[in-house]
Amino acid sequence: MDEFDVSVRGVVKGFGGRRACDGITLQIRRGEFFSLLGPSGCGKTTLMRLVAGFESPDEGTIELAGRDMAGVPPHRRDVNMVFQNYALFPHLDVAGNVAFGLRIQKAPDIEGRVRAALEQVGLAGYERRAVTTLSGGEQQRTALARAIVTGPRVLLLDEPLSALDLKLRQGLQEELRRLQRSLGMTFLYVTHDQEEALAMSDRVAVMNAGRIEQTGPPREVYETPATRFVAGFVGSGNFFDGRGDGTMVRTADGLSIECRAVGDVTLMVRPEKVRVNGGPGLAALVEEVLYQGASTSIVLRAGDRRLVAEDPDARVRPGEPATVSWRPEDVRVLPK
Ligand code: ATP
Repeated sequence: MDEFDVSVRGVVKGFGGRRACDGITLQIRRGEFFSLLGPSGCGKTTLMRLVAGFESPDEGTIELAGRDMAGVPPHRRDVNMVFQNYALFPHLDVAGNVAFGLRIQKAPDIEGRVRAALEQVGLAGYERRAVTTLSGGEQQRTALARAIVTGPRVLLLDEPLSALDLKLRQGLQEELRRLQRSLGMTFLYVTHDQEEALAMSDRVAVMNAGRIEQTGPPREVYETPATRFVAGFVGSGNFFDGRGDGTMVRTADGLSIECRAVGDVTLMVRPEKVRVNGGPGLAALVEEVLYQGASTSIVLRAGDRRLVAEDPDARVRPGEPATVSWRPEDVRVLPK
């Protein structure tokens, strides 16, 4: 049987009549890297603050390691939090920042534990540095060391890498994942960056307007999105609204797409599944070719329809006619 470190059931939290969390249910396994992914304002931070105990739910329950947290203050919960803006104490050096929680706990061997935590985040020897002299990446590592040093059961990370530039962020993503594995700690990670969530997580919950629309491993969420919102937020897609008769879906503008769906549906094809000039298909005109190094996006127009393809084999230029095609099995059916 699975052991859950975090169990959130039917949680509702409103601010002034608006629900930031509107009936959230999720369960996070011990040692799992679990991400909450969603656009700004969808309620990710609120959910995190509820788990940490900075807010209490209007409805529903939150359990940590099987214990109901109703009425339990933040410092009595076996969690720690890492914030986007690091929230370091500027008047303390690196060791002072990392030791802070241990001092409050009056823990033994503070010096040794601080050293070990700094080693784990790649800051060995930084003990006496003033935090004001650290780079953004070093500040975030210090904040991370401070959060893990007390050995919490669950670490809550609220967009911890979003203030860093892309290269640094990618390096730290890898390190964070390695650190999480080696500690075996449960991570609840908040991000609005879909690539980050897909790359790092064991499972992802995609949030929209206070609700979770889908929870699953990254590949499942990307390849079989449950809703149109998930399909559009986790990656990009070409969408077709139409009516299916069991063999074909026909769109209002006369397109027919091979698909066994019945009734009103939305079909979605990922750009990387679209072939340009790969055989017979929809007649289109190439509008833009956006070279991105590892991939090339081709924007095409077929009537009123804008299509995006990512086809490494296509050699086309803006203004040229082209055919657009895909395999029937690459069409995803989404509820309308
Ligand atoms: P972001 O990525 O921008 O931080 P988010 O998904 O974390 O967004 P939340 O910060 O949880 O979203 O906010 C969800 C909604 O709840 C927003 O509309 C926000 O304005 C509102 N909200 C959050 N906290 C409060 C508060 N203390 N008082 C009033 N409204 C709040």
